[in-house]
Order: sequence, then structure tokens, then C-alpha cells
Amino acid sequence: QAVAQHVRDALEVIVRTVDDNVDELGRIDSIAGDGDHGIGMQRGSHAALAAGIAAVDAGAGAQTALSRAADAWADKAGGTSGALWGVILNAVASRLGDTGRPEAADLAAGVADAVRGVQTYGKAQVGDKTMVDALVPFTATLTASLEDHEPLLDAWTAAARAATDAARASADLLPRMGRARTHGEHAIGTPDPGAVSLGLITTALGELLA
Ligand code: ADP
Ligand code: MG
Ligand code: MG
Repeated sequence: QAVAQHVRDALEVIVRTVDDNVDELGRIDSIAGDGDHGIGMQRGSHAALAAGIAAVDAGAGAQTALSRAADAWADKAGGTSGALWGVILNAVASRLGDTGRPEAADLAAGVADAVRGVQTYGKAQVGDKTMVDALVPFTATLTASLEDHEPLLDAWTAAARAATDAARASADLLPRMGRARTHGEHAIGTPDPGAVSLGLITTALGELLA
């Protein structure tokens, strides 16, 4: 039950981060996409939080609560990023279990599963100007830092910084996937919205570990 409360706290942090950045995410997506990334992330994260709270209140463990949240996100967000956030949260949920206390290595394994799941679902590679450009360095840094026996907070902070740097660097890339593809060169100079939101969310989630 205590771990399930952390799931609820994490979903609250995600909702707050998305709410605080909804206009900026929409603005970025309007240049290099169709303009709905802020709204889509808002619909998805709010639905996820509601489903997560309902599950926790009904006595669900961490895995069940996060997986209900993941399904609600994918269901309600619409759009590609909603489906992919559903994949990410379901992958992490599967490693949490419903009883006992997950370790940092379980979290890292869940995040690694998430990368594979996103790439299986969306077929994007690093450099295609998608959230994969932020998710891959996030996971690589988290895994490497934990293998170096760094504390989870330090490892997560370094990983979130890697995601944020990669999101910023995605501005230089030509989009090759998703709706941004049709914008071609027009998208150069603007970062990928899904990479930017991933950087913002992972950074904010680090607060919970402090
Ligand atoms: P939509 O593109 O359906 O309008 P959003 O605007 O919410 O959905 O999300 C767009 C983001 O989704 C992109 O910025 C990109 O990060 C991510 N995305 C789109 N297609 C893919 C894909 N095939 N693989 C990984 N990420 C993708
Ligand atoms: Mg969009
Ligand atoms: Mg759309």
C-alpha cells in the first residue's frame, strides 16, 4: 500500500508538470506537429491520475494502480504520445509488483523495458526526432549510473539531465516519424514536443526521490 501511494504521488507530479507546460508544449507541437501535444498530455495525465487514485483507494498495489493509470492515459489522450505513455507506464508497472518494495534496479529494468516497448510500437530510432531521442539517453544514463553504484537520486537526476539535453538537441534534427514528418525542414530549430515533455516530466519526478 505504501508503494502504491508513491505511484499516486508520481502521477500527481506528472499532472502538475503537464499543466504548468501545456501552452508551451502546444506551441512547440504547432510548429513541428499538429499543435495538440499539450492538450493530449493533459487529457492523458489527468485520466491516468484519476484511474490511479481510484485503484489505490480500492486497495490496489503499485503494479495494478500504475497499470490502470497507463491504460487510462492511452485510452483518453488520443494521439501517438498517449499510446506511447501507456506503453511506458505499463512497462514500469510490470516491474513494480503489487506486494513488497521494489528496488532501484526494478525501476531501471522497467525503464529499459519501456524503451523497447516504445520502439517496438512506434518503430522510431534515435535521430528520427521523437521522444525516443530523449528516452534512450535517459535509460542509458540511469542504467549506467546505477551500475556504478550511485544512489538512485543521483542516477535519476543525471538521467533526467541527459533527457533534457537530448530534447534540446532534437531541435537540430529533421523529423522522420509521426505527424512532424510532413513539416520537414520547417521543424528544424524547434525541438520535438514529445522529447521536451519527457525531459520535463523526468526532471520533475526526481523531486520525489529527494
Ligand atoms: P500526435 O502526433 O498524434 O498529435 P502528440 O502531439 O501528443 O500526438 O505527440 C507527438 C509526439 O509523439 C512527437 O513529438 C513524438 O515525440 C512522439 N511520436 C510520434 N510518433 C512517434 C513514434 N513513431 N515513435 C516515438 N515517438 C513518436
Ligand atoms: Mg500532436
Ligand atoms: Mg494529433
